[in-house]
Amino acid sequence: MRSDVTLYELTAPPTLAAVLDKLAAEPGKHTPIAGGTELMVALGVGRLQAQSLLSLQHLTELRFIRQEGDALVLGANTTFTDIRKNALIAEHLPLLAQSASWTGAIANQNRGTLGGNIVNASPAADNPPVLLVYEATITLVSAKGTRTLPYSEFHLGYKKTVLQPDELVHSVTIPLAYDEHRQYIRKVGTRNALAISKIALAGIAKLDGERIAEIRLGAASLTDRPVRCAAAEAALNGASLAAEDLEATIKVARAALATEAKPIDDIRSTARYRSAVAENLLEEFLRELVD
Ligand SMILES: Cc1cc2nc3c(=O)[nH]c(=O)nc-3n(C[C@H](O)[C@H](O)[C@H](O)COP(=O)(O)OP(=O)(O)OC[C@H]3O[C@@H](n4cnc5c(N)ncnc54)[C@H](O)[C@@H]3O)c2cc1C
Repeated sequence: MRSDVTLYELTAPPTLAAVLDKLAAEPGKHTPIAGGTELMVALGVGRLQAQSLLSLQHLTELRFIRQEGDALVLGANTTFTDIRKNALIAEHLPLLAQSASWTGAIANQNRGTLGGNIVNASPAADNPPVLLVYEATITLVSAKGTRTLPYSEFHLGYKKTVLQPDELVHSVTIPLAYDEHRQYIRKVGTRNALAISKIALAGIAKLDGERIAEIRLGAASLTDRPVRCAAAEAALNGASLAAEDLEATIKVARAALATEAKPIDDIRSTARYRSAVAENLLEEFLRELVD
């Protein structure tokens, strides 16, 4: 049932510092709202508990994409349209350009933010697998200061993160270090556009001749949170893709991925389907590496 909007209060403190002060003064009382594309759905179906919403949408301090040394830093309020239109991302971080371009439809992309996508902490979200394979770091900010951690440590479980009630996501930093890597991403959903993924896999790999010198894999909907596929990576690091070894390498990689896949049955798909498709995507990536 639709929520009664008169029960909600929306305020828009003028600066990031003012938002942080409010969060610090009454931790847990306020819910930040950025693009609102998640929260308004919750409101619409009567599942939004927070009655005090603090708008971040106008905070230009959180909306930027800038190069800092050998890395690109994206503010939490960066929208998917900002990402899609950025030339540096298109050139150096093509997986992010791709994942942004299939996060919902154009209307979602105009309002939906990278910060909102991360904090919502859906295991099926489109951008986390890419941030994982690019080894992004995430910076959190509160009235007390900032802390930066590897993005891989941000998600704790289904819809659970390390974010404290007085903290916001400030930005995400991605090394510009992958121009020589082969890059792969595939989202399997009911449709290409406007569909939450049943399973998705992102990967980057560097080859040394016919051997895999380095490989990183990130998946959505493989477990209860966005994850790096550590077992499959371990099985593949140093593995041979030479014609006589390829089938054995694929078999070992599929078996390793199966050990770490813990998908669920839900309305979008079955666990069995998700496991099988994840292995198929990994195989597709490996076969593309030898093309
Ligand atoms: C029709 C539709 C289709 C969609 N399709 C997709 C899809 O294909 N793929 C996909 O991944 N998602 C999809 N989504 C989900 C949603 O659009 C994205 O997750 C989007 O990135 C959310 O960002 P937002 O700014 O709108 O978040 P909001 O709704 O504003 O907030 C979401 C959560 O993040 C918190 N939050 C926001 N910013 C910050 C911050 N800086 N610091 C701390 N907390 C913060 C909020 O408190 C809230 O808990 C879809 C949504 C709709 C309605």
